[in-house]
Amino acid sequence: MIPVNPPIMTCRQLVDLVSDYVEDRLPVPERLRFEEHLAVCGPCRSYFDQMRDTIRLTGELREEAIEPAVRDAAVKAFRDWKGAS
Ligand SMILES: [Zn+2]
Repeated sequence: MIPVNPPIMTCRQLVDLVSDYVEDRLPVPERLRFEEHLAVCGPCRSYFDQMRDTIRLTGELREEAIEPAVRDAAVKAFRDWKGAS
């Protein structure tokens, strides 16, 4: 039997890709697979939320270079978009 759908991303793969995802460096197909995994894996969702906050706090996104209003709008758009699926 050949599976119709590609195998879902593993937890290990997701962990490896979190920073790339948060910094928007993943190609669209990888982003979709990332979100597909998040949608079905609670522990990874918790991990992702923590990592996203950590990356934001440590400044890897260089948000200090972005106007706060713009940053807040971007963060909100990201959340809305993430929750829209
Ligand atoms: Zn997982």
